[in-house]
Amino acid sequence: MRCNRCTEPAGWLRRSCKDCARLVEVFNTNRGADMASMMDLLIGTGVGREKIERFLDSDFEGGASVRDHIAADMTNQLLAAFGQSARKTPAEVQRIRKRGSWVHLDRPPEE
Ligand SMILES: [Zn+2]
Repeated sequence: MRCNRCTEPAGWLRRSCKDCARLVEVFNTNRGADMASMMDLLIGTGVGREKIERFLDSDFEGGASVRDHIAADMTNQLLAAFGQSARKTPAEVQRIRKRGSWVHLDRPPEE
């Protein structure tokens, strides 16, 4: 079977490859971290940068990408810090992102 995140061969009866399983684990244990910290943690797994990018763009719960989940977590932390109770769901973040201007803001700078 092929990995449902990076599409590389994942092995017999595996839905995701070892690398992506590791990335999901790191992501889940660090929910709420900002994008820069999350990238550091993901890069710290030793998984290649290109694969991490594919992981970030892959679907997570609710049809939004991992990247959108990280952005939604960040937004909600900020809102909470300012005493706001409004919550942004990953799907809402995805809609806002697809609409426009900050489409690349959450990406690490090109090397
Ligand atoms: Zn994978």
